[in-house]
Amino acid sequence: MRHSKETRIAKRLSHYLDRVNRVHLLIMTILLLVCIVLEYYLNLTLGITGAYAHLFYVPLFIAAFWWGFQGGLSVGIFLALMHLTSHLPDINQLVLAESLAFALVGSATGVIGSERIRAERKLRQAYDEEVKLRRDLQAEMERRVEFTRALVHELKTPLTPVLASSELLIEELRREPFLSLARNINRGALSLNEKIDELLDLARGEIGMLRLKLKQIDPSPLLRSIADEISSLVASQGQSLILDLSEPLPSVTVDENRLRQVILNLLNNACKFTPEGGTIVLRTKRRGTRLAIEVEDTGPGIPLEEQQLIFEPYYRARSGQIYSGGLGLGLPLCKTLVELHGGQMWVKSQENKGSVFGLSLPL
Ligand code: ADP
Repeated sequence: MRHSKETRIAKRLSHYLDRVNRVHLLIMTILLLVCIVLEYYLNLTLGITGAYAHLFYVPLFIAAFWWGFQGGLSVGIFLALMHLTSHLPDINQLVLAESLAFALVGSATGVIGSERIRAERKLRQAYDEEVKLRRDLQAEMERRVEFTRALVHELKTPLTPVLASSELLIEELRREPFLSLARNINRGALSLNEKIDELLDLARGEIGMLRLKLKQIDPSPLLRSIADEISSLVASQGQSLILDLSEPLPSVTVDENRLRQVILNLLNNACKFTPEGGTIVLRTKRRGTRLAIEVEDTGPGIPLEEQQLIFEPYYRARSGQIYSGGLGLGLPLCKTLVELHGGQMWVKSQENKGSVFGLSLPL
């Protein structure tokens, strides 16, 4: 019976020792040894009493801070006993009061220490949970990207021969309506190819796997070539395009292909939504340490409540449902790409008047 009680106590002690930081234990042992030396040397050898006792509060507070109630109380009792025994046999009321104070202050500060330790433990628990959640989320997103990659592969495999064959047909065919039919097939396959790439880019962007190839460029030639590229589409739809560059433009550090992709996307949207006779403006403005690029159109505009939602993946505004098909991938991808450059995207729009889509790039 006695034996099992002893082993229980030993087990408990070793459990506490396991939880205690070894460095803290060493520091406390040294501090207590200093206290013992002070007590016996000053009191018994030199006969100085009382004055040094305040120094004992140092290990007391530290023990309460590190180990809470149990630590504060144990060190308090240790100091009280030491103080009492060093004054034996004539213990006066002051020594008794001081010893009692060690035990009481030790337990009182220990209670506060325990609260701190409990709060710290809770915080650590919350932190660990958050880390685990974040890891799970990351794994889930990586699975999604993996799935998207596999899907993209499956979709692209049959598309490659369609693209190659339609290009060959365009080169070989001379007679209408076959040439136009081949061009239609090619255009459809190209646009499908683009959508598939967008899908993969967006999935990569969501988990930060999208990388930019940054280089310093003069934006003017790039904007002019983009305007050239879109001009035939604009003309074929009876719209007009105005290029309003506030030259000379400062150079920017960007991934040229990605910036081209973003601006083309905005211009394509503008073409899609602007009626015949409407105007599209590609404009630049210098705003302090940023270069703003805007695409303005005279399309149907976007209701205020939808203006932020259109940057969410797969969201299609009312205008999109009426005027075009689409997956709602373009703008979210543009936003991701612009933000990867350290920039921002915005839209200002008024229903039945038009929209201005803008992006800013740091200079
Ligand atoms: P999608 O790839 O389907 O065109 P986007 O992400 O490019 O999707 O656009 C999301 C939605 O934003 C579209 O469905 C459309 O309703 C709206 N939108 C985008 N650009 C314009 C614009 N210039 N004028 C009016 N609505 C627009």
